Amino acid sequence: MPAMIGTWQMCFEGLQEGYAILQNGGTAGDAVQTAIMRVEDNADYNSVGFGGLPAADGRVYLDAAWMDGNTLHMGGIMSAENIRNPIRAARLLCGRETNCLLAGRGAERFAVEQGLPMRDMRTEKSLAQWREELQKANRQMDAYREHDTVCMIALDDHGSMIVGTSTSGLFMKEPGRVGDSPIIGSGFYCDARFGAAAATGLGEDIMRGCLSYEIVSLMKRGASPDEACQQALYELVKSKVSLGEDEGSMSVIAMNAQGQYGAATTLRIFPFAAAKNAQPRLYAARGGKAGHAASSAAELKNEP
Ligand code: ASP
Repeated sequence: MPAMIGTWQMCFEGLQEGYAILQNGGTAGDAVQTAIMRVEDNADYNSVGFGGLPAADGRVYLDAAWMDGNTLHMGGIMSAENIRNPIRAARLLCGRETNCLLAGRGAERFAVEQGLPMRDMRTEKSLAQWREELQKANRQMDAYREHDTVCMIALDDHGSMIVGTSTSGLFMKEPGRVGDSPIIGSGFYCDARFGAAAATGLGEDIMRGCLSYEIVSLMKRGASPDEACQQALYELVKSKVSLGEDEGSMSVIAMNAQGQYGAATTLRIFPFAAAKNAQPRLYAARGGKAGHAASSAAELKNEP
């Protein structure tokens, strides 16, 4: 029975398309690629692909990753410019025994060699926002200030499981800064025998807990996707709080090998979309205060 889950409201239309592919007997890989490309190509989503908000130098640096849960191979690009669909480059890199994670120029050269479409990812709107931000004296870096990663997990009828991520990273980041999204174990992980997980939020914090690997490990030891998301996030939040820090801004999604899914967040509300045995819907995970991050997936609404 196919299943699919993705982060944020912006993933909804893409997930609908991806899930239709699964229902028609298509592969998890095609579902994930189609769903993420839909978000990357939409200039209205200013944290992923075309129209993504620039780094401090006014350029858009892209991070993306792909993991095949049946082979445990991954591919990814980081800090790369002008690749119209970073997820396609990540997918093409997945399976290489060496050189599967390419940064900057190397990633761009690979995309060109593969014949992938290139484009300037900036729009008039994103450049205007960047110029406006440059005028501000006190700039604050915030993972959720108009900034999210699209993460997708799909399981198909052939038992194949894939996770993909794509983001332009933090608005006004330092050129060269890389978040969790292309980092295996942190931004994503997938082992088709047990499940997959992916994260969005402040990459610098997510990486400290290797959150996605931890969630899959918990599912391997018998936790449900919801329990695994909550426990992994709770442990990291607990460590942060005991170090005198705040909870941070982090949200996670997961799916097990049976296609059951779950999510958790430190936010008041974290929207995600999912489908299994039914048409895709939007749901919300709700976070709590001081270490009580996460709750299960209450339905947010049926239509986008
Ligand atoms: N995780 C992303 C990063 O740190 C940003 C986000 O998901 O909001 O680059």
